[in-house]
Amino acid sequence: MEHQFPRPKILISRCLGFAACRYDGQQLHSGFIDILRDHVDFVDVCPEVEAGLGVPRPPIRLCLQENRIEVWQPAKSRTVTEALRKAASHLAQNMTDFDGAILKSKSPSCALQDAKIYNGITQPQFLERGSGIFGALVLEQLGHKAVEDEQRLSNRILREHFLIKLFALSRFRILAIRPSMADLVAYHARHKLLFLAYNQLRFRLCGKIVANHERLPVAEVFHQYQQELGQILQKPFLTKAMINTLYHALGWISEALSTREKHFIINTIEEYRDERVPLQVVTRLIEAQAIRFDHAYLLEQVLLQPFPLKLTDLSDSGRGREVE
Ligand code: SF4
Repeated sequence: MEHQFPRPKILISRCLGFAACRYDGQQLHSGFIDILRDHVDFVDVCPEVEAGLGVPRPPIRLCLQENRIEVWQPAKSRTVTEALRKAASHLAQNMTDFDGAILKSKSPSCALQDAKIYNGITQPQFLERGSGIFGALVLEQLGHKAVEDEQRLSNRILREHFLIKLFALSRFRILAIRPSMADLVAYHARHKLLFLAYNQLRFRLCGKIVANHERLPVAEVFHQYQQELGQILQKPFLTKAMINTLYHALGWISEALSTREKHFIINTIEEYRDERVPLQVVTRLIEAQAIRFDHAYLLEQVLLQPFPLKLTDLSDSGRGREVE
């Protein structure tokens, strides 16, 4: 049984499979981004092409010079700071309706956090890693949305969190186009188990916002809810909290199950705790029972299918988890 999903809108670095626009005239390939194409609307951008640097082009680097980041192109002995900043600002306009972004890691333009920054221009020494010129603007404007670089998305946990957040935010964005309290109540109820696994305290704050005892205008309620939503989904859920939620979900149907059936699901939850099976194995088992008993409450829960099943990819590079 496949749920209905929105089509999130994602900003993406053009070289990640959309055009051969890298400095060396190449593009990169990502299996995950290829699969995503069927489920999201991508808007691809290349700040360096936008800045008129051409393809191919000599590489650029970020250099700290007199307390200011300059963009230096060594092969041409010139700075292209103003051109790149102008192009990046232009591309960063009107980003409000994006649900997320996938940017190229390590790029002096697109990186979110791992571009190399050098000290000085003439005899540069590596100083630290930081955001690229465009990446910094994207973080400023979309930092509370689902924003990642392509390298971190090769990590299974970060990718799963990215997808959960992306689709939850997209559902909310569509809801907020014509805000209605009844729809917000339904959204909150459908996301209950998922958000409990993320952050119980924040989920309860969201509940108070939805209850709207102060009788605030709908637009204000949506604004407050959106702020809390960003907080709930700020970091990936903890396995321990997810296990509590899975037991909570099981509680809704456990009385209707035989002892053997119950033990089978409990054992599978414990296998998930030991990282021997992925979360989807447990949620599919619970969903199967929800279908069997036609359990309307559980079948409505986003937790059972937070994003399209076809996006489930269990591969894991193990990279990126150390980066908070
Ligand atoms: S990393 Fe950004 S600026 Fe560089 S080629 Fe890709 S899209 Fe263009």
